[in-house]
Amino acid sequence: MQKQKIADWGNYPVVEAETVRFNQAEQLRVALGEPGEVIAYGNGRSYGDASLQKRVIMTRSFRSFLSFDSASGVVCCESGALLAELLEAFVPRGWFLPVSPGTKFVTLGGAVAADIHGKNHHGEGSFGAHVVSLEVMRADGSIVRCSREEYPEFFALTIGGMGLSGVILNVTLQLKAIESAWVRQQTIRASRLSELMDAFESFDEWTYSVAWVDTLAGGDALGRGMLMRGEHATVEQVQGHLTFSAASQRKLNVPFFLPNGLLNRGTMMAFNSVYYHQNQKPVKERLVHYESFFYPLDAIGNWNRIYGRRGFMQYQFVLPRVTGRVAVEAILKKIQASGLGSFLAVLKLFGEQESFISFPMAGYTLALDFPVCFEVFKLMKELDAMVADWGGRLYLAKDARMDEAMFAKTYPHADDFREAIALLNGGSTRFSSLLSNRLGIT
Ligand SMILES: Cc1cc2nc3c(=O)[nH]c(=O)nc-3n(C[C@H](O)[C@H](O)[C@H](O)COP(=O)(O)OP(=O)(O)OC[C@H]3O[C@@H](n4cnc5c(N)ncnc54)[C@H](O)[C@@H]3O)c2cc1C
Repeated sequence: MQKQKIADWGNYPVVEAETVRFNQAEQLRVALGEPGEVIAYGNGRSYGDASLQKRVIMTRSFRSFLSFDSASGVVCCESGALLAELLEAFVPRGWFLPVSPGTKFVTLGGAVAADIHGKNHHGEGSFGAHVVSLEVMRADGSIVRCSREEYPEFFALTIGGMGLSGVILNVTLQLKAIESAWVRQQTIRASRLSELMDAFESFDEWTYSVAWVDTLAGGDALGRGMLMRGEHATVEQVQGHLTFSAASQRKLNVPFFLPNGLLNRGTMMAFNSVYYHQNQKPVKERLVHYESFFYPLDAIGNWNRIYGRRGFMQYQFVLPRVTGRVAVEAILKKIQASGLGSFLAVLKLFGEQESFISFPMAGYTLALDFPVCFEVFKLMKELDAMVADWGGRLYLAKDARMDEAMFAKTYPHADDFREAIALLNGGSTRFSSLLSNRLGIT
């Protein structure tokens, strides 16, 4: 056991924690024998405090591949393996992740616990929909093997359960067959929000779609942006490229925290304008490697340091499709009026989903990054009221500040989840995070 300062991706908050590492289930059982509050920490790619506590179980050393069926594409892996490690092993064999977040540096355990979504949620659901079964160590050291058939309620609590039902040991996952490592990407430029949303809604037969939004453009150009949609390319379509070649991306790195405030309204406006105008044609189609389609941000190591030591927060909300158009526009106007800009703004359209406390619901989700400062807390509080009034909610994996009342109001199964976790957490060792304490779940 070791004491160290830890944080998640936003570097806010930073806490001093006892960290426990394990590479065998038995070591984990011994660690859980010690009473107190504890939570699993995957690769710290959630943004806020979901994997923070005074004592954390670091899972990265527990990452062996256990089995793979090359006929069905079903893989079983220990939970500390990164999605990047799965891609490296299985893309050359013609298999891809069923759901990809915006970074491949996420562990399998973190992907299940946050029930992450990708650019294909509207057609293929979230990560949990592709999980065949799990093995989870509970606080008393017992291991539960669960699936949709075996202990289905425990399985449902664990998918999207933010680590509160136990430490996920193994994940059995259905991969997706692909013919190449390339993606046929189409980019559509939209000069205002309504155009962008029309583009989303008229082309939802595409497997993947995501949009970048210029949050600083105002007036008629409010919500202008670029919709990127994609399909895995077939063998015929990749002629001239090596079918399963690795990306030739040159990796840049931000070696240290840049001064706070470097990323300001002026630098962001300049970047957004160049980015928006780089695409001269309204519609552009080309073949891109999966790395650049799915994980463009991963090309810059430690990019979170651009925000400085004070860190940053991501505000990701989802709004039902019926209110989404009006509400996203009103929220963008509110942000502009505040004088605070978001450097990164990503819009997606989700499909239906029923679960305990997973984030997605049918509608629009927008993710916005803000450097940590007093004014941002004030703005986010005001945005909370708008999101809640329009029937939306915030993503727990990105959150560092939502209050208990907002969580209770916006997550319809919050009470059921809290009660179920209380029953599981009856002993002297309890799974809880700073997030779950703050939201009144534990
Ligand atoms: C650049 C970037 C882009 C992103 N894009 C997306 C996106 O498109 N879609 C999306 O859904 N998310 C996205 N995320 C968020 C990220 O996918 C999730 O927060 C994910 O949970 C992080 O996984 P992790 O392994 O880093 O886990 P951590 O951040 O360390 O932990 C996240 C949660 O998982 C729990 N957990 C981790 N491992 C285990 C385990 N073995 N057993 C039980 N619980 C466990 C933790 O307790 C915590 O509650 C993005 C993050 C970044 C930095």
